[in-house]
Amino acid sequence: MHWLFTPAAGILFSATALALVAAGLMWNRRSVPGGILLFLLMLGVAEYTLVSGLEAASATLFWKNVWAKLEYVGSGAVSTLLLLFAVKYTGHERWLRGGRRYAVWIIPVANVAAVSTNELHHWIWTGFLPGAPGTNALVYLHGPGFYLAVSALYAYLGIACFLLVGAAVRPVVIRRRQSVTVLLGTLFPLAAGVLYILGITPLAGLDLVPIACFFSAGILIASVGAFRVFDLVPIARDALVEEMSDAVLVVDAGRRLADLNPAARRLLGLDSTAVGRRAADVVAAWREIESRCCGEQGGHAELALGTQPPLFADVRASPLLGRDRRASGFLIVLRDITARHAAEMEVQDANRRLELHVERIEALQTELREQAIRDALTGLFNRRYLDETLPRDIERASYDHSAFSAVMLDIDHFKQVNDRYGHEEGDRMLEILGRLLRERTRPGDIACRYGGEEFVVILVQTPLDVARARAEDLLAAFRELSGKRGHPVTLSAGVAAFPTHGQTQDDLLRATDEALYAAKLAGRNCVRVPT
Ligand code: GH3
Ligand code: MG
Ligand code: MG
Repeated sequence: MHWLFTPAAGILFSATALALVAAGLMWNRRSVPGGILLFLLMLGVAEYTLVSGLEAASATLFWKNVWAKLEYVGSGAVSTLLLLFAVKYTGHERWLRGGRRYAVWIIPVANVAAVSTNELHHWIWTGFLPGAPGTNALVYLHGPGFYLAVSALYAYLGIACFLLVGAAVRPVVIRRRQSVTVLLGTLFPLAAGVLYILGITPLAGLDLVPIACFFSAGILIASVGAFRVFDLVPIARDALVEEMSDAVLVVDAGRRLADLNPAARRLLGLDSTAVGRRAADVVAAWREIESRCCGEQGGHAELALGTQPPLFADVRASPLLGRDRRASGFLIVLRDITARHAAEMEVQDANRRLELHVERIEALQTELREQAIRDALTGLFNRRYLDETLPRDIERASYDHSAFSAVMLDIDHFKQVNDRYGHEEGDRMLEILGRLLRERTRPGDIACRYGGEEFVVILVQTPLDVARARAEDLLAAFRELSGKRGHPVTLSAGVAAFPTHGQTQDDLLRATDEALYAAKLAGRNCVRVPT
């Protein structure tokens, strides 16, 4: 074998060295999205530049052909890996699901197969011409297979470029700086390839594509090494965002998911294919998140995520500002508060139950109090109530210097009513009298069942003569009511006034009792006042 060290070979070997360094750097940063692919891409570039360098340095047609064939391995791998990288990096992974990921390798493999069997069919190279005088360059005469192979690989590069341009011009994408870097790196080989096909080369037979890879590798090394482009995001993404227990989402201006961390995938039940899709299509609670949190200043809300099982989240959205200082997307952080929410609900439930208990207890107390001061048969107040309230009435009247009257009523010969018509009929009479007293008393008056068939009515702000007249009316009304039942029953009544006939409860009631006794003595069915 004859060797001739040429400047082209020198440049290409330097590119190989740089590509290997870049591969090493990428290996350390392989956790960034597409990092492994970039690492493999750099290995491909290293192979490509190495065999291109060997081709440039060889002096015999045989060896030049061997290396040129091996170039197809590197160039095919570089184009395909760049396409895979661009697809993954720009969030279009779902394009290459399943078998498609492997299908993209059919073309580079077919190219390698075609070039290695060129002697049989001459599809790739139809012949060779010596290059510029004084060099060992070789001009390859290309057959249709070459143009087919090259256009397929350039189609890969073109799609990769298109995707990366798309990511680079998107107003808010965390990886914009990286996209620009990677894009610049891609444009060099693409431009060099176009020049090579058009036959524009500085030296006859010199393939500029692997040399362009030297620049690509240089740019990537500069980005990774000097500008630390890939370092910025891994700190934020890997250490913080990836490991965060809070779910983090990025939506772009078109409300598509630009990014989401593993916690977000878990919380919302999504997989990595959700990236690039409309948030409304994959996030059940998106409408509510958008309306409550994605205002101009962002927003904060606690809401149900509409997931199964039902989860609740504390949602905070912050606008991501584009160049024009307008929100072109949102960074959304969701914190799972299901447990807290459940605890709050439980406390609320317990409070509600407690309130119901308190209400029931209050109702029971009211009922109990009613029972304690009411007579069950007649619905009138009982003697206990009179004992409670009469002292207050006396106090008030003393203070006002006002008068009130007390009436004591007793059913005449009630024993006989029971004996003749039965105890139940006696009860009916008591009920009728109770209803009558309730109807004939004004608010403020007190009508109570004082004993078995004895009743006391306190008539507030009523002088004796008026009270007496009202007692007469009661007697007449009861006579009439009982008469309607076929056996008229009469009442006797004693009336006394405060303070004239008594200044204490006992004195006043004694006065009414004595007046009642006088009415009984007078033959019953009449009203008497103290003499
Ligand atoms: P008078 O008052 O006219 O002297 O005669 P009287 O028959 O009404 O006499 P007394 O006051 O001694 O009798 C009261 C009767 O009232 C005795 C009792 O049987 C009856 N009585 C008391 N409480 C009730 C009751 O709740 N229901 C019925 N049916 N009878 C009652
Ligand atoms: Mg009696
Ligand atoms: Mg009686």
